[in-house]
Amino acid sequence: MKIEINDISSKGVHKEAEYNPCELDLEIEASKVALPVKFITPINISADINLAGKELVVRSILMYKLQMICSRCLEKFDLLFEGKHIFTYNIQNLETVDITDDVREEIILNYPLKPLCSEDCKGICVKCKVNLNMENCKCGNVKLVAE
Ligand SMILES: [Zn+2]
Ligand SMILES: [Zn+2]
Repeated sequence: MKIEINDISSKGVHKEAEYNPCELDLEIEASKVALPVKFITPINISADINLAGKELVVRSILMYKLQMICSRCLEKFDLLFEGKHIFTYNIQNLETVDITDDVREEIILNYPLKPLCSEDCKGICVKCKVNLNMENCKCGNVKLVAE
């Protein structure tokens, strides 16, 4: 999202944009820090943009849906992400501000490092490899949960 400083009135402006995750190389970056991540929706951003003296303040809401792999049971699950972020820029001598890099950074910072399909996911038995959410362990080793 590119913001023209001259377009911003004293009341501020509202802007919306949609990013294609492929264009931002987000899945590759994600796989470096976490288990494989797939974006199943584009990244939607809705922003209220205001000038405060020499600063540009962008109050944004980011929304997207990820398919992740549970770090306990290794099953795929979907996660809807909705987060508010405030980006500020010093606009001295600038005519436009592009917030794309910061949006990208923010998304990467928000990947869960240990995604869980549910808080009480029972995981997989380390011995018989049964998914303990779906069936009972065959070896009786129920207390050993693969982290
Ligand atoms: Zn799980
Ligand atoms: Zn078992």
